[in-house]
Amino acid sequence: MKKVVLNNGVEMPIIGFGVFQIEDAAQCEQAVVDAIQAGYRLIDTASAYLNEEAVGRAIKRSGVPREELFITTKLIIQEQGYKEAKEAFEGSLRRLQLDYLDLYLVHQPLGDYYGSWRALEELYKEGRIKAIGVSNFYPDRLIDLIQHNEIVPAVNQVETHPFTQQIESQKIMEEFNVQIESWGPLAEGKNNIFENEKLLVIANKHGKSVAQIILRWLVQRDIVVIPKSTRKERIQENINIFDFELDKSDMEQIAIIDTGKNLIINHRDPDLVKWFGVTNFDIK
Ligand code: NDP
Repeated sequence: MKKVVLNNGVEMPIIGFGVFQIEDAAQCEQAVVDAIQAGYRLIDTASAYLNEEAVGRAIKRSGVPREELFITTKLIIQEQGYKEAKEAFEGSLRRLQLDYLDLYLVHQPLGDYYGSWRALEELYKEGRIKAIGVSNFYPDRLIDLIQHNEIVPAVNQVETHPFTQQIESQKIMEEFNVQIESWGPLAEGKNNIFENEKLLVIANKHGKSVAQIILRWLVQRDIVVIPKSTRKERIQENINIFDFELDKSDMEQIAIIDTGKNLIINHRDPDLVKWFGVTNFDIK
């Protein structure tokens, strides 16, 4: 399994399994078991996905030693703040049946994320989290957080796929030694991505699926990917991307598809910010 080395020396698999929108507990548990069996070692969940318990059961069921796994979860806006983040961390650990996290992310730059960050810094120093990071921090928020706090986030998980390539954001993350991680690597299937003509030509050329071309393209850009699927054959397909390589012209063709803006979620959208501010995520 190819890994990236984070800014604190921790190694992180370059491909993992995401569990957003797998609300059914049994289905989530089975998907994570299937993913671990298929070779995934990184699992990406969040308190807001309401499936940490299912992920925890799957980890136990997998039989894979804890130290071989890399478990990420995130704290949502209603858990933001120094005291709240510490409580949220304990809640996530309890639901996951774990005694440490590999990566804990502030899910959005909304609410008192400065308070949360100070809590995460302490938990990190106590050795209870191997690496701390953020998600959906656009360059301005990321730089602000870095410049006014002690610990530089190890990871920034942002929407990244062929329609939203994050070229400039990635450069800024590299400048500050923050690892970029793609959420929605397959654009959640939106915009007819699997029928995209440019991607189909490249897929046919390599005898691979469009999903494999996209994931390979991200990995070749040194971006960590966490595709989600509940289908066993796709879970396997999505990790089988290490036996071929995209060439310069393939990379150039994919570069053309970029729109330079978010397709799925824009965290600067006032309506979205309002929605986050009033939503109860019902985390127990
Ligand atoms: P993805 O881009 O991973 O797309 C998932 C969709 O693609 C599903 O509909 C799935 O269907 C389909 N799919 C998966 N593999 C294939 C394939 N090989 N061929 C055809 N279709 C396929 O979307 P996600 O939003 O789930 O993003 C991945 C992960 O990123 C999440 O699970 C979550 O962990 C994280 N995330 C983080 C966010 C954040 O704010 N930090 C926001 C959103 C996601 P099916 O299941 O039926 O196979």
